[in-house]
Amino acid sequence: MTKDYSKYTPMMQQYLSTKDQYPNCLLFFRLGDFYELFFEDAILASRELDITLTKRGKTKSQDIPMCGVPYHVADQYLAKLVAKGYHVAICDQVEDPKLAQGIVKRDVIRVVTPGTFTNEDYMEADENRYLACLNSYDQSFSLVFLDYSTGEFFALEKTSSNLEEVKQWILDQLGNRQVKEVLLLSSSLDFSFLNQEDLSIQKLRKKEPSKFLQDQLSPELALRLEEVQMIYPLVYETAYQVLNYVYQTQKASMGHILSLDLFDTKKGLVLEEGAKKNLEIFESLARSDKEGSLYQVLNRCQTAMGSRLLRQWLHKPLGSKEAIQGRLDFVEAFRDNLMVLDQVKEDLKGVYDLKRLSVKIATGSVSPHDLISLKNTLVQGENLRKTLEDTGLELFQTYGREIPNLLDLVGSIEATLKEDAPSIITESIFIKEGVHEDLDQLIQARDHGREWILRLEQEEKDRTGIKNLRIKFNKILGYFIEVRKSNLDLVPEDYVRKQTLVSSERFFTVKLKEMESKLLTAKEDSLSLQRQIFQTLKDQVKSHLTALQKTAEALSQVDVWASLASLAIEYHYVRPQLNTSGEVHIVQGRHPIVEARQKDHLFVANDTDLNLNDRMVALITGPNMAGKSTYMRQVALICILAHIGSFVPADQANIPILDRIFTRIGASDNLSGGESTFMVEMKEVAIITKYATPQSLIILDEVGRGTGTFDGLSIAWALIEYITDHIGAKTLFASHYLELVPLAQSLDKVFNLRVLTEETEDEILFLRKIEEGFSNQSFGIDVAKLAGIDDRLILRAREVFLDLKKKEGGKEPPEDFFAQENPTETKRPTGQEMKNLSQYKALLRDLEKLDILGQSPLESLQEVQNLQKKAGELLHDPSTD
Ligand code: ADP
Ligand code: MG
Repeated sequence: MTKDYSKYTPMMQQYLSTKDQYPNCLLFFRLGDFYELFFEDAILASRELDITLTKRGKTKSQDIPMCGVPYHVADQYLAKLVAKGYHVAICDQVEDPKLAQGIVKRDVIRVVTPGTFTNEDYMEADENRYLACLNSYDQSFSLVFLDYSTGEFFALEKTSSNLEEVKQWILDQLGNRQVKEVLLLSSSLDFSFLNQEDLSIQKLRKKEPSKFLQDQLSPELALRLEEVQMIYPLVYETAYQVLNYVYQTQKASMGHILSLDLFDTKKGLVLEEGAKKNLEIFESLARSDKEGSLYQVLNRCQTAMGSRLLRQWLHKPLGSKEAIQGRLDFVEAFRDNLMVLDQVKEDLKGVYDLKRLSVKIATGSVSPHDLISLKNTLVQGENLRKTLEDTGLELFQTYGREIPNLLDLVGSIEATLKEDAPSIITESIFIKEGVHEDLDQLIQARDHGREWILRLEQEEKDRTGIKNLRIKFNKILGYFIEVRKSNLDLVPEDYVRKQTLVSSERFFTVKLKEMESKLLTAKEDSLSLQRQIFQTLKDQVKSHLTALQKTAEALSQVDVWASLASLAIEYHYVRPQLNTSGEVHIVQGRHPIVEARQKDHLFVANDTDLNLNDRMVALITGPNMAGKSTYMRQVALICILAHIGSFVPADQANIPILDRIFTRIGASDNLSGGESTFMVEMKEVAIITKYATPQSLIILDEVGRGTGTFDGLSIAWALIEYITDHIGAKTLFASHYLELVPLAQSLDKVFNLRVLTEETEDEILFLRKIEEGFSNQSFGIDVAKLAGIDDRLILRAREVFLDLKKKEGGKEPPEDFFAQENPTETKRPTGQEMKNLSQYKALLRDLEKLDILGQSPLESLQEVQNLQKKAGELLHDPSTD
């Protein structure tokens, strides 16, 4: 039902009925040189954009709020709005205002959404911008991702009856992928778990795709979709809905989308969301940005396309030996051929973002300047191909031959456009001379009109012999030849009389009239002919879209290989071997990020040996700050690097093909804070127990810390047993629970590692060296010492500690597992022993926590007395014997 807007002005009526069609969008309504917003939209936009709120007209004697932005800088404001998750409908004049009868016709020409916004000036160059769509049928779920700005399009599918698992899968896939907008087609999940700030999420009803959609797709994609339809009907449906959505909102071609890649989540190494975060793959934990992330350490790409591809590789490490070897071969070849590497980097410099350009080419919004950039990029691409072919190396030559030859296109652009062609088409001429004869004449006419007339005047004087013949101009007649009456007998036959004055007569000639019309319309005609020529060129470029995308792909790949080779050279990385027997064998491994961060300090390298038999679970003990977490992360990162086809920071590495890496970083080690409750911790442990397989790598850092000592210890204990008995996955487990140490003796698959520290008279030296065995140090007290607590207190603490140990071990001085360097006797502590220990440790922890500097000596004394009292109670409680 249309509402009655008759009370409003015709313009407002037009506004309101347009707004009715786009209720969920802000409406940018073009009035003159501005996009105006009204009513609620105006109030909201003025707040979000920080622009002045004014008014225009009234309704029911109330002012109508209004605000506006200049149309030529609209993208700047659109960028801000989409970043906040808004959708904006752009309503433009769709007829020439000069020709309009009554009010100018306006229509929505496109809807800008967070996932489809494409202005490069307001996007991160090295990040993708995805529109994601989730769909389901029965127990199958499909996720489709489209980066409209580059044409990258891929899909994933999962079948599961466990909704929790599905949710986790969705979060893992969405996480860190720079998804800006999510479309939900599925009704079988409630999506509250997805709610995130500045992510636009909308439920969408499945729609019959527009019948015009098909015409907008590239033939390659249309073909691909037919294939997909047969094998993955759900993915097909989802993909079509995405394309339809983009078509409905952008109302433009999608010819730059060439394929729909199907990612098989079963293949490839999956990094669950927590692992990406904890291992600082894309963002550092401390700063939550690129700084200090693995991505940043790796990224030496010359182009934005390369940087984005590297990100994608990190998102989706490979799962097949062959595919990884394929990448490693290139990285190695570049590393071994420094001259080629340098030349390739040179070739890649100044390469324009060909992928982002492709959307403009497809939609026809490419500017003359863009085409010059395109040409320069293609020239660089040509150079790159030459570089590769000149190497004489089979690997490079074969690859080089696959880069499309686009020299014809380079030639056309070069021949057509001036080098300084503008980004916005104005009155300036950017088509080269000699491209089109008519254009040259028009430009001549435009620029040299006056000279032409003078020349013609001279020609006519010479031809007729009339010395005082003049060519003049007025508004009524235009150009004319004036001849004095006395010379009329010399006027030639082809002069056409137009006007007679008292002393002279005025004539036209065909030539003069032709010239006149050329002169008068030269300006307009030159501009429109220039547009035409440019359009032809654009069409020609568009017909090469597939080859351009291929070239873009090649440039980005070479960029990433070269980047990884440079990294390998700078930090002396080695090529990893790969195995399928499940063994991790690393000689002198290093942590890539820590190593890069502390360039001036020496990073202490460490070995790693894990297998599925007697070295499945490494239990790592050592004082705080010793380097446990760093060591475990280092192993995980080296595995990830190997899976993306990178060299690794080690002297030697043999890495198994993994299916997943899980990390669980204990609550107090998790810097994200806030959510660090025991519940979160246990949920993550639950995920591990459900989905880990013998091909997985599990990193457990201080699990159990989030709860009381006793619970924590018991869970850690049971978890290790569960992993060895039921999962069979390689695991690194760092713990401050010394009580776990004997597990290595009772369970075949568990072994102990410790981080070496050296205690001198008055300090602890962190040696950062991992070795077999376990640590028997009183962690808390040492750290208390490190923190500068008074010696007397430390001394007393040691006494208490030794007492406690003695007590626990009976009359003899420490002879139990706790004090032994390498226990020979296999013994699991009983529940009572564990409980005792936990009480002792609680006491020690209280001691550790003592805030001596923050209180008066008297208060300290008081607290030490309290502790002493507790210690006494413990020692004399028969149940703790
Ligand atoms: P833990 O987990 O045992 O408490 P961390 O792994 O957090 O200790 O290490 C503490 C600090 O020691 C880290 O911030 C890091 O800078 C440094 N570190 C750790 N391992 C090494 C190493 N192998 N070489 C040099 N510095 C290291
Ligand atoms: Mg730690």
